[in-house]
Amino acid sequence: MDLTLDETQTLVQRTARDYATRVIMPEAAAIDREERFPKAILKGLAELGLMAVNVPSELGGAGAGPVSYALAMQEVAKACASTAVTMAVTNMVGEVIAAFGTDEQKQKYNPKLASGEYAAGAFALSEPGAGSDPGGMSTTATRDGDAWVLDGQKQWITSGAYAGVMVVWARTGDRDKLPGTRGISCFLVEGGTPGLVVGKAEDKMGIRGSNTVSLTFDGCRVPASALLGELNSGFRIAMMALDGGRIGISSQAIGIARAALEESVQYSRDRKQFDRPISDFQATQWKLADMVTELDAAHLLAMRAAWLKGQGRVFSREASMAKVFATECANRICNKAVQIHGGYGYIREFAAERHLRDVRVTMIYEGTSEVQRIVIARSALS
Ligand SMILES: Cc1cc2nc3c(=O)[nH]c(=O)nc-3n(C[C@H](O)[C@H](O)[C@H](O)COP(=O)(O)OP(=O)(O)OC[C@H]3O[C@@H](n4cnc5c(N)ncnc54)[C@H](O)[C@@H]3O)c2cc1C
Repeated sequence: MDLTLDETQTLVQRTARDYATRVIMPEAAAIDREERFPKAILKGLAELGLMAVNVPSELGGAGAGPVSYALAMQEVAKACASTAVTMAVTNMVGEVIAAFGTDEQKQKYNPKLASGEYAAGAFALSEPGAGSDPGGMSTTATRDGDAWVLDGQKQWITSGAYAGVMVVWARTGDRDKLPGTRGISCFLVEGGTPGLVVGKAEDKMGIRGSNTVSLTFDGCRVPASALLGELNSGFRIAMMALDGGRIGISSQAIGIARAALEESVQYSRDRKQFDRPISDFQATQWKLADMVTELDAAHLLAMRAAWLKGQGRVFSREASMAKVFATECANRICNKAVQIHGGYGYIREFAAERHLRDVRVTMIYEGTSEVQRIVIARSALS
C-alpha cells in the first residue's frame, strides 16, 4: 500500500478541509445546541462532490474512490460530527444504488443524491427488535399485482425525515422456507410515499444535528421496479454496504478525535497552573503522546481498509478492524481531551464536551464493537 496521496485524493482532502474549516466548523456548536439539521451545509457538500465521493462521475458522483471518501469524511467530522454522519449515510446509499441498481434506478436516484437535490439518503435496516441481528427483521414486503406492499417498522433511521430516497430491507420469502437472512430483499422507497409514516426525532446524547427517526410502513405501496438487486438476496447488499460504511464511521471517529487532540494541544499550551503551562507536566505530555499514537494507528487501519476496497479486494475484516480500533481509541482520545481541559472540558463553552458526546455513538452504529469483534474472530478462526 502506497501511503502517498495521489492528485485526486489530495484535491478531495483539500476541498473538504477548506469547506469544513470555513463553513462547517463555525456552525458546529449551534447545530448541536439547536439540534439543527444542516440543510444548507449539506447542499454545499453536494456541490463540492462530497455527497457521492465514490460514485462514478457518469452518475453525478466525484468518482474519487474510497481513500478520497475516507479523507473527506475525516475533515468533515473534525468540523461537525452531525454533518458527517448525514454525509456518510448519503454516500453509502448512493454507492449501494450505483452498485446494485438497474440503469433506470441509477439514472433516477444517483444524480439527485449527488447534486443535493435530495437533502440526504437513508439506509433503513435496523428495527426495534432487530439491531445487531438484522436477519431477525420482521418488516415484510408482499407482492400485489405490479406493486410491493411494505408493512413493519424501522428504528434509528438517520435522515429518515429528510431523505429523498431510502434503501429499505424487508422480508419477501416465507420464513419457514427461507429462514434467517435468506428471504430478505431490498427496496428503494421515496420520501413521502403514502403509507410511510416518519416518527418523532430521537433526543440523542450526541450528533444532535443529525436526524434519527423511526419509520412505520403501513400498507406502503411501491412499484415492482422498486426492488433493488435480486429477490430474496437483499441481505448480501446490506452486508456489502456495511463493510464500506464501517470505513466511513472509522473516519468519522478519527475526525472527531483529531479535533479533540488539536484542541487539547492548544489548551495545554495556554492553560497555566503552578505558574507553568499544563503542557509542561509529564502527565499531560503522556496523554498527548498516547492520543497522537493511537490516532495515527487508527488512521493507518482505516486507510488500509479504504485502499483494499479501492483495489477491488476483500476488505470486510480490515473494515471491522479499523472500525473497532478507530472508534474505541477515538472515545479514549475524546475522554482524555476532557480531562486535559479540566472543568472547562465539562462545559459547552469548549468543544471537548461535544466531541465526547458525539464520538460515543461510533462504537454503536453500523455494527457495535461487539459485532466487529465477531466478524474479526470469525475470520481469525476460519
Ligand atoms: C444515532 C443512531 C443512528 C443510527 N442510524 C441507523 C441507520 O441509519 N440505519 C440503520 O439501519 N440503523 C441505524 N442505527 C442502528 C444501529 O445500527 C443499531 O443501534 C446497532 O446495530 C445496535 O443495535 P441495537 O441498538 O438493537 O442493540 P442490540 O443489538 O440490542 O445490542 C445491545 C448490546 O448487546 C450486544 N450484542 C448483541 N448481540 C451480541 C452478540 N451476538 N454477541 C455479543 N454482544 C452482542 C451489542 O453489542 C450491544 O452492546 C443507528 C443507531 C443510532 C444510535
